[in-house]
Amino acid sequence: MYDIVVVGAGMIGSAAGRYASSIPNLKVCLIGPDEVTERNIDDPHDVFGAYYDEGRITRSTDPDRVWSILARRSIDRYREIEKLSGIKFYEERGFLSVGTVGNAYIEQVQQCVTEQGIRCNKDVRKLKEQFPYLDLPRNDKWIFEMSQAGIINPRRLVNAQQKMALKNGCDIVRGIVNKVTRCVDNNGDYVMRIQTDTGEECVAKKVLLAPGAFTASRDLLGTDLVPDVYLKPTNVCLAEITESDAQMLRSMPAVTYFGKGNKGWWDDIASNERGNSGFYMLPPIRYPDGKYYLKLGNCPEFQGNNDIQTAADLKTWYCLKDETVLSKALGRLIQTLIPGVKMKSFKPDRCVIVETPTSRPYLDMLHSQLGLVTGGNGWAAKSSDEIGRLAVGMIMGGIQDEELTADMFTTRYKMRSQSKL
Ligand SMILES: Cc1cc2nc3c(=O)[nH]c(=O)nc-3n(C[C@H](O)[C@H](O)[C@H](O)COP(=O)(O)OP(=O)(O)OC[C@H]3O[C@@H](n4cnc5c(N)ncnc54)[C@H](O)[C@@H]3O)c2cc1C
Repeated sequence: MYDIVVVGAGMIGSAAGRYASSIPNLKVCLIGPDEVTERNIDDPHDVFGAYYDEGRITRSTDPDRVWSILARRSIDRYREIEKLSGIKFYEERGFLSVGTVGNAYIEQVQQCVTEQGIRCNKDVRKLKEQFPYLDLPRNDKWIFEMSQAGIINPRRLVNAQQKMALKNGCDIVRGIVNKVTRCVDNNGDYVMRIQTDTGEECVAKKVLLAPGAFTASRDLLGTDLVPDVYLKPTNVCLAEITESDAQMLRSMPAVTYFGKGNKGWWDDIASNERGNSGFYMLPPIRYPDGKYYLKLGNCPEFQGNNDIQTAADLKTWYCLKDETVLSKALGRLIQTLIPGVKMKSFKPDRCVIVETPTSRPYLDMLHSQLGLVTGGNGWAAKSSDEIGRLAVGMIMGGIQDEELTADMFTTRYKMRSQSKL
């Protein structure tokens, strides 16, 4: 019998698997499928991860102090994880926030930088000189987080966490969990039974669920309640550039923009009633096909209304590769932002973000043997190490932390009948 089974070997689950297995004498198992090589609507495989990519932005600045702490603690450990695993996943390229003066986003970033003493450069003239290839509005506020920020490779971070978990003695099972139940064993003790969709079974004293967007799509919770989350479909555009242009852009930081933008930016991208919208952009990254891509996504709050209502919708969103109006608009925007570089081709990609009404991750015990962690809100890749660590603390007896308390991660539930997933 395992002490802890972690369900979901994605960003948070893999970190949790590593932390749980680092506790002496604890028998731990991490269960989750590998990334499928081809997402295909006709294939029976219907569970996917939000980390299937080569780049995620990392930064300490965040309008919410809790997210800022989660990020800072994780970033502080990146180099150690790289060293211990032998897998490099972090590039400290810096993070540039730009926004219309007075806009809530940029003013909150400013406040966070000041309150937390984060080293930044705010001199627009100098930053324009440093990043001459970026065509961002000169009259906006620019805040450049120079260190402890940049990009991580989420696939490689997941690999690193799993490699260390294996070293700690964690079992890793490649499967999809279909059902988790609480039952009484021959000794009269309550135990958790975990069944995979290929009919394999194991038992554990405790289960930690970390299945990302797929929490409600299988029988994992053993109750009529499901977490109150909104599954937000997201589009990104990958713009292929030449290797020499990638070289030319080698100093480029990760960028996030919120505000009015330049003329034409939001023509085909949703904006709010005040004419503000936003995007994030990653510097050139070499993808597994050997080509270099810049990646641009518009900020989740401006994604439009492609509601995911059912498990079938979730699968369809992940598997379809058609170019949407939005992904074409993102391609046009990226060319406008870096006018000196010719984009060779554009490739759309899709993913799903788990939004919570609190905008924070959910960390909760459904009962003394079943814990849940989900609700990345589109920001958890960079902070997955600390969220995984907290989740293990929670399942081992409660979050004991001077700065972060359980009430900061309160989970809201709704009736399964209110959710078609
Ligand atoms: C387009 C996009 C851009 C993003 N950009 C950023 C960014 O720049 N910076 C940032 O910090 N974050 C970013 N994020 C968010 C980040 O990727 C997620 O918050 C993070 O991956 C969430 O981690 P997770 O472990 O909760 O879920 P996931 O990483 O999705 O992992 C869940 C895992 O559970 C598995 N699973 C599901 N159901 C089962 C089951 N029944 N049995 C077994 N396994 C199961 C899945 O296969 C998956 O591997 C972005 C997300 C998207 C979609």
